[in-house]
Amino acid sequence: MAKALKSERSKLYKDHLVQVLLSKFLSGELERLEPVFDPDRGYVFPLVEAILGNAGEVEQFLDKLSKAGIFKKELYDKTLFCPNCNSPKISTHYNCPHCGSFNVTKSALIEHLPCGYIDTEDHFTKGDKLFCPRCTKELVKLDVDYKRAGVWCTCNNCDKNFDLPSPSHFCRKCQSNFTFEDAGYENVFSYRLSGDAQKEASLGWILITPIRAFLEDHGFEVQTPGFLMGKSGTSHMFDITAFKKDVTKGMTVIDLATSTDPLVSEQPVIAMFAKIYDVAPDDACLIAIPKISDNGKKMAKLYRISVIEARNQEEAVSALSDYLDEKSSS
Ligand SMILES: [Zn+2]
Ligand SMILES: [Zn+2]
Ligand SMILES: [Zn+2]
Repeated sequence: MAKALKSERSKLYKDHLVQVLLSKFLSGELERLEPVFDPDRGYVFPLVEAILGNAGEVEQFLDKLSKAGIFKKELYDKTLFCPNCNSPKISTHYNCPHCGSFNVTKSALIEHLPCGYIDTEDHFTKGDKLFCPRCTKELVKLDVDYKRAGVWCTCNNCDKNFDLPSPSHFCRKCQSNFTFEDAGYENVFSYRLSGDAQKEASLGWILITPIRAFLEDHGFEVQTPGFLMGKSGTSHMFDITAFKKDVTKGMTVIDLATSTDPLVSEQPVIAMFAKIYDVAPDDACLIAIPKISDNGKKMAKLYRISVIEARNQEEAVSALSDYLDEKSSS
């Protein structure tokens, strides 16, 4: 079982989208991936959506990484859904147990300790002070001469009083009323990198982190992933974008392409060309692990994409260093 999971993980580490997400953890930018509440959609993971480019695949993607033992998931919250329209825009009503109305006023109960009188707070209030209606003394200090004695509800419909309301839910989208019995009630998780993944990643299975560190050491501002707006108005994601603040010309975009086959195909070259055609960076570089096909090489030349071939991260970093030296001297 442990072995099967390990091989599953090593397969996933080669997946480029997994690398992009994990680089966020390994760079220290992210310690825990937390959901963000969107009133229309419920809990979402905007970062993961941006990386995958598809909101519909997020849950499955995170599930896959958890099952393989890359992520450890922790219960973060529970969400309620409307049974009628599935909306998470839900409010809670605290209803009168006698007539069912939600037109209920909640008050705080106060007990005056010297005389034992208990009533709702409004009966004690005079201006900004509290006086006992029975013995007329002023209430001085909470938990010394008086204490809070729970809540008291009054139904504005049937005028009955009670201390325990009966809760129900109201869908703010479709206006359905429903109880817990019918509500959708689901787990929401946050995700951390597992101990195994931390160890394995530090063994060098993941590429973006050392490349990022290398570029930062050389004075680049680096984003992983980096998003650049194209002429068309579409935002494009590159695995790495790097630029130097003090240099006007110098936006470099880098994509990684890894293959378990002997050769990386021309596919990542074509995908990258579509993006750089729109974004027009100063330099585009594709790092192919381990090698790229002849066809891929030819196309990259045609599209003015520099190709770096490397068998591992050390080779990738050293080839990138040569590439940047060449750029700065030309
Ligand atoms: Zn009532
Ligand atoms: Zn009193
Ligand atoms: Zn609804």
